[in-house]
Amino acid sequence: MGSEADPATGAVVTPIYQTSTYAQDGVGGLRQGLGQGYEYSRSGNPTRTALEDCLAALEAPDGSARGFAFASGLAAEDAVLRSLLRPGDHLVIPDDAYGGTYRLVARVAEPWGVRHTPASLVDVDAVRAAIEPGKTRLVWVETPTNPLLSVADIAALADVAHEAGALLVVDNTFATPYLQQPLSLGADIVVHSTTKYCGGHSDVVGGAAIVSERASAPWMAGIAGLGDNAAERIGFNQNSMGAVAGPFDAWLVQRGLKTLAVRMERHCDNAEKIVEMLRQHPKVTRVLYPSLDDHPGHKAATEQMRRYGGMVSFQVAGGKEAALEVCRKTGVFTLAESLGGVESLIEHPGQMTHASVAGSALEVPDDLIRVSVGLEDAADLVADLEQALG
Ligand SMILES: *Cc1c(COP(=O)(O)O)cnc(C)c1O
Repeated sequence: MGSEADPATGAVVTPIYQTSTYAQDGVGGLRQGLGQGYEYSRSGNPTRTALEDCLAALEAPDGSARGFAFASGLAAEDAVLRSLLRPGDHLVIPDDAYGGTYRLVARVAEPWGVRHTPASLVDVDAVRAAIEPGKTRLVWVETPTNPLLSVADIAALADVAHEAGALLVVDNTFATPYLQQPLSLGADIVVHSTTKYCGGHSDVVGGAAIVSERASAPWMAGIAGLGDNAAERIGFNQNSMGAVAGPFDAWLVQRGLKTLAVRMERHCDNAEKIVEMLRQHPKVTRVLYPSLDDHPGHKAATEQMRRYGGMVSFQVAGGKEAALEVCRKTGVFTLAESLGGVESLIEHPGQMTHASVAGSALEVPDDLIRVSVGLEDAADLVADLEQALG
């Protein structure tokens, strides 16, 4: 399920249909039959369809969702925001959201008239307080968050959103559908940067929205005559706005998804070993990883996740300079933005991925280091961080 042989040819691996257009049987007559019915590759492409069906099956094995693949994670987020919101609407976002999500909401959506309130999603009451009755249309959740790895209780926040007539969107990039399935916990829409674990090999930029068929709300009705079903609106806008995943990119992400389960197990195994070392290290002042009893999201993570993931953040004694020094000194960990690939990466969120939130409510501590733990030998990874910490 989710990965079928190519209907047109029987190819076990869906071919890369690198074509912009499709021959028609007469004016207005799309070809009928297995694998047919395509017209133009912005509107639909068989390689992209295969990826979209696969993502939908992974997030909703019961077939209750539709997948849409985009050119990047932010293109997927933009499609969700602009398909569902209009000027005057309001949304709640995490107070430690991914920097790019914050920039999209604060610098693109806000000037367009969509307001937002950052709230700590760890605190259900804070989210309830941030909701503006009759105005808040979306509660936007990232869990675990980037880079602080806070964990939001998805089922509880789904209730809070639904009580207010809003929809719950979950950015599932860090957990992936292998570790966590938000739609089964009551979320309405899942978004991904497939650039990260779904693709998994640091060789593609992509995004996706997976939308529950039941995601609808009366306030949606009437915008551009599109009705009140979120999947239909997002599907319409995927074609209308046009930021679709190209065939080769779609193929790469689908190839990545075939090994998602195996990779995630190894990412988690390696992350646990690194956490064990960091916890003992005298220069490490705090380790952020949801498996830890003292992590504020430990309980929610244990309930809603299969394991705790491949991302680890930690703070070091000596402030920003010490943190930058560790980032400079690793050899196996490559200093780079992004995450979720085969190779381990290290970065300084304050000056790299999260530079765009400096000075805002979302600013991150400057002694914070984030690692994306890859699939290398765990002992090599532990030794590398130990020598970098000095
Ligand atoms: C990277 C990332 C995004 C943005 O995705 P792009 O593919 O870079 O556009 C969104 N959310 C999270 C949690 C991310 O890590």
